[in-house]
Amino acid sequence: MSDFFKKQALLFGIIAGAIIGAGAGIFFPDFSIKMKILGDLFLNALKMMVIPIIVVSMISGITNLQGTKRLGKLGLRTLVYYLSTTGIAVAIGMMMVLSIKPGLGFPLSGAEIPEKISTETSYSVVDMIESLIHPNLFQAAAEMKILPIIIASILFGLALNAIGEKGETAISFFASLNDAVMKLVRWIMFFAPIGIFALIAYRFGITGGGNAVVNLIRSLGKYFITVVSALTIHSVIILAMILLFFGKRNPINYFFTVGKALLTAFATASSSATLPITMECVSEEGGVSKKTSGFVLPLGATINMDGTAMYEAVAAIFIAQSYGIELAGAKLLIVFFTATIAGIGAAGIPEAGLVTMVLVLQSVGLPVEGIGMILAIDWLLDRCRTTVNVWGDAVGACVIDYYESRNEE
Ligand code: ASP
Repeated sequence: MSDFFKKQALLFGIIAGAIIGAGAGIFFPDFSIKMKILGDLFLNALKMMVIPIIVVSMISGITNLQGTKRLGKLGLRTLVYYLSTTGIAVAIGMMMVLSIKPGLGFPLSGAEIPEKISTETSYSVVDMIESLIHPNLFQAAAEMKILPIIIASILFGLALNAIGEKGETAISFFASLNDAVMKLVRWIMFFAPIGIFALIAYRFGITGGGNAVVNLIRSLGKYFITVVSALTIHSVIILAMILLFFGKRNPINYFFTVGKALLTAFATASSSATLPITMECVSEEGGVSKKTSGFVLPLGATINMDGTAMYEAVAAIFIAQSYGIELAGAKLLIVFFTATIAGIGAAGIPEAGLVTMVLVLQSVGLPVEGIGMILAIDWLLDRCRTTVNVWGDAVGACVIDYYESRNEE
């Protein structure tokens, strides 16, 4: 038992940091707001590692795979996992919101929609596809546009494989760079208890402390409960069963293994910023091969968003219910598909889901202004869905790795 506590000391430190942070934010909001700098330092350190970790782990993952056929198989498995779990998540969300009906009788309010959302109304699938290739990789990196970096890294890895012996030096260069980057992540992780404490304390603090948070939850009570219970069902039942039956892992043990990443996801509301810690937990501590995690996790942090896709569907139907607009038959099917696409298209950054939600609302003719009603609580629900997004990635890495390893035998 003591061995367990020793191994999980950092996790318990982070849990304590999160709880104390929430308590500080609720009871001492003024003090908590001053903690911002500590949270920012931690967050910046994580963000600093995102691009290096993607480039290095993708390239060394691909070069380890040796061959486009293996990559094709891994890619296919990854897509099947992403799409099926996201589809299940959206379906659960839709069933919950259609049966609880949190929007019925909900007072329409005219909250202002932030510019970033109202100016994005032209967001489309074509934009999404176009953004896959960026003409300037440095600019893409500077703007944290991750998909073009992933694609360029895959291509570069394939090219290194293709040139045979001449690529060996570069391949081993990236392999040792990978180890160094992971070492750095481990160092940063030691600051996680303080960083997570500060991030959570600040966020609860700027909301105005305990009463403000309680009032906020109360004002959107049924909606809040619908989203949180749908997210919980998906993570605790569906993903856990997938892990058990398809990944042959004990979900509770694995949950503890990736707990640090899940709490970081809650504290940062960003799958991308959490990526370095997800990598460390899944591959270094969870025993998932670097070949698989190097490919599945960076891609997952960008496109596999079960929580976000589910949220998009729940929010759209909630908005329709509040406006007294009935969505049925084909329209529900459209919500299902556009929510899945909007989840894939959302960046792994805070509140990105709100921007891509425009796509869902417009596809079934719902007023974009409806977003104004759920804006106030989005910071909190964003954290919950980001945690589910990261859990989905971590489970996926395990399941896909199980099949990959069977392939090798
Ligand atoms: N914040 C989420 C993430 O990073 C995206 C979203 O749902 O807004 O995973």
